[in-house]
Amino acid sequence: MQYILQFTTLLLLPLYFIASVWKAGERDILSWSLKCLVAGAFLAYVAATGRWDLLSYYARCAFGLLYLAALLRSGLRVRSRPLVITGERGWWYSYALHAVLLVIFGGFFSWAARGWFYSEAPVSLQFPLASGWYYVGHGGNSPVINYHNVYDSQRYALDVVELNSLGTRAGSFYPKELSRYEIFGDAIVSPCDGRVEAAVNDLPDHIPPATDRERVAGNHIVIACNGVKVLIAHMQRGSVQVTAGDAVKAGQLVGRVGNSGNTTEPHLHLHAVRGGSGTVLKGKGVPMVFDGVFPVRNTTFKHRNP
Ligand SMILES: [Zn+2]
Repeated sequence: MQYILQFTTLLLLPLYFIASVWKAGERDILSWSLKCLVAGAFLAYVAATGRWDLLSYYARCAFGLLYLAALLRSGLRVRSRPLVITGERGWWYSYALHAVLLVIFGGFFSWAARGWFYSEAPVSLQFPLASGWYYVGHGGNSPVINYHNVYDSQRYALDVVELNSLGTRAGSFYPKELSRYEIFGDAIVSPCDGRVEAAVNDLPDHIPPATDRERVAGNHIVIACNGVKVLIAHMQRGSVQVTAGDAVKAGQLVGRVGNSGNTTEPHLHLHAVRGGSGTVLKGKGVPMVFDGVFPVRNTTFKHRNP
């Protein structure tokens, strides 16, 4: 059911709106403009909030280009028509309907776009993955683009996957084999110079969709650095390279991506807190920036180890 919903949102509805602009042949410029704005607002909302790693990250760019092509095609067709046609019975009805739709879709989009901003002082870190093209599935300061956002300590948490050459995160839609997820087994490096406060290394990697709701972080490490504590979670069993008390340097190998803890598929979970009293999960969530970038859903990082 969830998949049908995802594909309707990512594929069918965008294609419907693009086709409606492509075919648009309104009698006046205002009707055409409203139709295009409604489609554009919807597409912007889906571009910001869609999980494009499920379909393909490339589809997101392709739909943007198709929309522009459709605008050009129908714009040329209607360019010499009157600006507005009034006077006929109920002439205002279609304008009003499209204006209402524009407010609704525009409102959805601005709700999502609010998640691109933060007000607290951020912490600057090194991105902890360095051997591929990484995609932020959950991230940002709004629950529309980051399900963690409702929890104070995890407000700015990230869930990261890796994209393959087709722009998707796995070899098929929801495979059972962990190795078919592009990110599984990737090296994780320390995001900062600091000290390891906790390390767990002996929990099993689950076969999707099994999860462990008791030990939610699974194999994980907590690193204290730059005035914050950073949690890196769901690591691969036996891969953790450090123990509590160790000093670590930014860029140092600390473990590998796994599927342990409360996770439905291999990914890296990362969040930073300030003032956590003993347990990293109960501090105050801190925004993280990597090379000046505040990652939100659909941000990608391309790193290749030399
Ligand atoms: Zn997470």
